[in-house]
Amino acid sequence: MLWVRSIRSNLRPSVLGFHCCWYSASAAAVQAERTIKEGPRHDWTRPEIKSVYDSPILDLLFHGAQVHRHAHNFREVQQCTLLSIKTGGCSEDCAYCPQSSRYGTGVKAQRLMNKDSVIEAAKKAKEAGSTRFCMGAAWRDTVGRKTNFNQILEYVKEIREMGMEVCCTLGMLEKQQALELKKAGLTAYNHNLDTSREYYPNIITTRSYDERLQTLDFVREAGINVCCGGIIGLGETAEDRVGLLHTLATLPTHPESVPINALVAVKGTPLEDQKPVEIWEMIRMIATARIVMPSAMVRLSAGRVLFSMPEQALCFLAGANSIFTGEKLLTTPNNDYDADQLMFNVLGLLPRPPSLVDDVDAETSQAAASASASA
Ligand code: SF4
Repeated sequence: MLWVRSIRSNLRPSVLGFHCCWYSASAAAVQAERTIKEGPRHDWTRPEIKSVYDSPILDLLFHGAQVHRHAHNFREVQQCTLLSIKTGGCSEDCAYCPQSSRYGTGVKAQRLMNKDSVIEAAKKAKEAGSTRFCMGAAWRDTVGRKTNFNQILEYVKEIREMGMEVCCTLGMLEKQQALELKKAGLTAYNHNLDTSREYYPNIITTRSYDERLQTLDFVREAGINVCCGGIIGLGETAEDRVGLLHTLATLPTHPESVPINALVAVKGTPLEDQKPVEIWEMIRMIATARIVMPSAMVRLSAGRVLFSMPEQALCFLAGANSIFTGEKLLTTPNNDYDADQLMFNVLGLLPRPPSLVDDVDAETSQAAASASASA
């Protein structure tokens, strides 16, 4: 029987109960199987993650998809909207960022948006299918910004009452501010590590990796979900990408949300001449993140505009389950609304509902959400 032969030839020897020399399982296969059996682990070594990352790309993609299907409803993709509520004029020197006041990018410094405009934008985002609304402010931190911070607490409360998940990215936080955001109903706080600890000083010199980790600790301790990922295409090596994933995957609790961004090089920034990220690099990053942090929402974030629909389909297959919709991602262009709706139809994707559970560990809540989604 031809079909029996072809199925058998696709099975790994361990499944068939014998070993021979014609097939050797990739690290992606081995680690994905372990993840499916044991659930999220926090004792990943860097060589383990590197070997997953270096697996043959189609094998990595396939096993990312296996873990994804085990941990999530694979058809669901969450739509999020990220609004820049305070644009430009930032004192930091992040080499990729057009909002830094140190670079001549043409982005003008603006004041904090008023409540009516922010709430209006959130309503529009909700009507367009977003279930998570993220507000970004171009600040080093929120220290000494009491008036603005209190305004943002109001925005958080109101948007949460609209039945949306609410996320903020306002720079470094102090412990007390994290607690106040939690009290206001904040779902998640975004603070990216951007890259590996080793490569980080090439990208940012005005605050340290450890300061970033400290903010993540405050966020987690306050009971807010952590959203933390990075950017590829900054001139880093594969080892740096693995270093970033290793830091995230060995945190005491994996981030509930891991945005994977591809650099959108902006004229006037130090990284203006970086070559665009290739889809294969994105797939490697997404599938590896999915295998090492199975419960996280892996978000196909900035740079999606660089990819065609079939390329984005490969990212969803590899394990991405969220996108950012809306005209802009902070200050850079984003995918067209109609094109995104068409993509949902063509790929048979389903909009993922908001997860509004309070005071729970992210891995537990994600596991519960996946279980109910696949029930
Ligand atoms: S990434 Fe954030 S902190 Fe860095 S320069 Fe841009 S706005 Fe400022």
